[in-house]
Amino acid sequence: MQRDHKWLKNRLEMIWKRYFPDIAVANNVFVKFGRPTRTRLGSIKFGRRKIDPNTIITINGFFTDPEIPEFVVDGVLAHELTHYAHGFASPHEQQHRYPHQGGVVRREMSDRGLKDLLQLEKRWIKDNWVKYLKTQRAL
Ligand SMILES: [Zn+2]
Repeated sequence: MQRDHKWLKNRLEMIWKRYFPDIAVANNVFVKFGRPTRTRLGSIKFGRRKIDPNTIITINGFFTDPEIPEFVVDGVLAHELTHYAHGFASPHEQQHRYPHQGGVVRREMSDRGLKDLLQLEKRWIKDNWVKYLKTQRAL
């Protein structure tokens, strides 16, 4: 299946329903593939609108490549949704001073049954990411 915008949107909706059903969709949330980059797997930020801002989740453009396992994309989407649940780049109440404070993302993902996915993702990145970048002449 082609990894286009619609595919990415479906992955996000699936992960949201399955692992974050208690987290309200409190504003417009957009997800898109950004530029292929070496260092950033994903990010979440507010759009420019001052009142009722949109949330924009950006996923590394390399992840359109079927060489990157789906669980890597899912893991990154779940990571960004965890930030959303914690009130970062989202209308929900902010739960921590910093988004990555003291392993809060890892703990939240574990509590939501995402521990295995997270481990698979981390392992794959550790074993394959640099190699992959070399095949893409990105290193
Ligand atoms: Zn993060």
